[in-house]
Amino acid sequence: MAEWKCSNCGYTLSADKPPEECPSCKEKCEFMDVSCYIPECGETGADPRLK
Ligand SMILES: [Zn+2]
Repeated sequence: MAEWKCSNCGYTLSADKPPEECPSCKEKCEFMDVSCYIPECGETGADPRLK
């Protein structure tokens, strides 16, 4: 799972892949992967299981 943020309206959602159409603004916006910017990701942003 990754965290995606709509570059148009700022809506965020969790999914394996970004949606084709933003559920919030109903536009085909560009979704940015913001997985490592959410608090759950930790200070380093790295998944501890990968170490
Ligand atoms: Zn949007």
